[in-house]
Amino acid sequence: MGFPQDIPLDDALAICAATVTPHQNTERLSIDDAFGRILAEDVTATLNVPQSDVAAVDGYAFYHQDLDQAPLPVSLPVIGSIKAGHPFEGEVRRGVAYRIFTGAPMPKTLDNLGPDTIAMQEHCQIDDQGRVTLPSTLKQGTNYRPKGENIKKGDTAVVKGTSLGAAEIGLLAAIGCAEVNVARPLRVALISMGDEVAEAGSDAGFSEGMIHDSNRPMLKQLIAQDGHHVIDMGIIADDRKALTKAFQNAASKADVILSSGGSSEGDEDHARDAIIDNQGVIDFWRLALKPGRPMLAGRIEDVPVYAVPGNPVAAFICYRLLAAPLIGLRQGRPLTPPLKILAPADFSQTHRKGRAEYLRARITGQGIVLNGRKGAGVLTSLTGADGLVEIPADHDDVKEGDILPFIPFREAGL
Ligand code: AMP
Ligand code: MG
Repeated sequence: MGFPQDIPLDDALAICAATVTPHQNTERLSIDDAFGRILAEDVTATLNVPQSDVAAVDGYAFYHQDLDQAPLPVSLPVIGSIKAGHPFEGEVRRGVAYRIFTGAPMPKTLDNLGPDTIAMQEHCQIDDQGRVTLPSTLKQGTNYRPKGENIKKGDTAVVKGTSLGAAEIGLLAAIGCAEVNVARPLRVALISMGDEVAEAGSDAGFSEGMIHDSNRPMLKQLIAQDGHHVIDMGIIADDRKALTKAFQNAASKADVILSSGGSSEGDEDHARDAIIDNQGVIDFWRLALKPGRPMLAGRIEDVPVYAVPGNPVAAFICYRLLAAPLIGLRQGRPLTPPLKILAPADFSQTHRKGRAEYLRARITGQGIVLNGRKGAGVLTSLTGADGLVEIPADHDDVKEGDILPFIPFREAGL
């Protein structure tokens, strides 16, 4: 099978996405346990939030029309005091004001009519007779939150496929939803490959020419952070049969296989053959991406195999930009492009057109600065970086001040 071209990232994503079958395994969890999980159903609001018009400030509720009476400023007798959680049960009429506190329901008649404006207590004076003098310049409708302002009964509060963050969990609680159906974590089989690769801590067999396996511990954390369960399959030697067996084993117990190393075209790169020897198919091989060109993706039955390059930075980038969104898709998340923030480059860099390039970067007051030394294997370029700066495939050499997309690793500062 020939793969003559390096394909752009978006094409690779589209090719793989077309073959991904979303997993249907769900479980019901308390919202307290659902952080970071993928919602498996649309959740609809079964009530209005807030349930009625409520005060947004501590102050005095009144009919705005009462301000029309001359002379200004208007003063009204205060009747009633309405606290949060205690609907007013007395008479509701024009020509009076109601003491009201933040979150308290606006006083209403049986016909659901009533005061339409609240004056903040700081802007009012109370006299000895218990009358309140109101500010004259208030607009009608000021200082209360209308019923359903947050969300209306019948509206979709959180859509299926959403990764539940703190705000979604807050909203679910607001509509009274204490449990949700979420996707079960996927089982991701993780394999490192290479004769030279040895586990950190196994110093006895660590001779010259060997390297410690940094990919597996790093990818393990990325996978776990994305809410999946890792099946650690260790390090496999550069041996076609051994890898074929490992892939077979992985396909029998995992939902996704992620391997690193051995995806290139050398005699000792066996990822491609090991997929084919398992009667699998290859979806693409080689990306128009720097670093990350020798990336391979395929399937063994319906289990996707993402074989990322061995160089640690390439492995990280291929995971984040390609494998992670596709694994998310298998779990029921929509395939959405990463957040890209446009910012000026505070660096210059030669760039050959045709391949998108991702460099590790930090954001400063001056714009995007490069982090650490370049190179697909230089992990120290990732440590301390805020994210990746993208040099698009059709971009010329980068000059200082060029506006480039920056992809943050995570929210910072909040
Ligand atoms: P490969 O993709 O197998 O051609 O490997 C490319 C480079 O990445 C080589 O220098 C490997 O030694 C290195 N490499 C492969 N696997 C790992 C790993 N698990 N951890 C760190 N470096 C690796
Ligand atoms: Mg290798």
